[in-house]
Amino acid sequence: MSRFIVGLTGGIGSGKTTVANLFAEQGVDIIDADIVAREVVMPGTPGLKAICIRYGEKVLLDDGSLDRKQLRNLVFSDTEEKQWLDNLLHPQIRQRMIERCAQATSCYAILVVPLLLENDMTGMVNRVLVVDTSESLQQQRTAQRDNVSLAQVDQIMATQLTRQQRLSHADDVIHNDAKPDKLKEQVNKLHQQYLILAKKDAKA
Ligand code: ADP
Repeated sequence: MSRFIVGLTGGIGSGKTTVANLFAEQGVDIIDADIVAREVVMPGTPGLKAICIRYGEKVLLDDGSLDRKQLRNLVFSDTEEKQWLDNLLHPQIRQRMIERCAQATSCYAILVVPLLLENDMTGMVNRVLVVDTSESLQQQRTAQRDNVSLAQVDQIMATQLTRQQRLSHADDVIHNDAKPDKLKEQVNKLHQQYLILAKKDAKA
């Protein structure tokens, strides 16, 4: 079981998934908050049942799974509904993430949480690792990956911390302004440090 948890965060399109994949190549167990967030609204879950009771069948796709786009539209500009949904799902997501971390078998585990700082979840991790890149690269890479406009990416970025705010909470930073092959070196170096820290923590 991994007791030592590194929280990996960063703005949209900063390179969290790319970096997490490199840690996974080193044999580190990765727990991804976005995947967990999808699990708690799978068909048959109490989460999806509660959403259906509140919004009706219109939030379901033909196969009975959640129409995430429809739900997003319903809560996007309605603070009260957004709050209701967060109150329903956040505790379940947290609980599941704790369980997944406890099940991890690598020397330490990485918890990827895009809104780790915004949602005040640093208490769940031993260390905060921020993937950092310029705002313009964040915009370009996200727009290209998701096939959306720069303005749409801007809207999402406006709901997240600024680059400086995020960096002020970082224990470690991975710089992702250059070619992807520059990431490997930084990941490998941090991996060695985390192995040492995890071993120390296990002895304490
Ligand atoms: P996040 O998970 O933080 O949203 P991703 O890891 O998905 O970010 O990266 C966003 C996009 O940018 C992806 O399409 C990814 O392949 C690409 N990308 C990541 N790092 C680099 C880089 N250093 N150079 C070019 N493209 C990159």
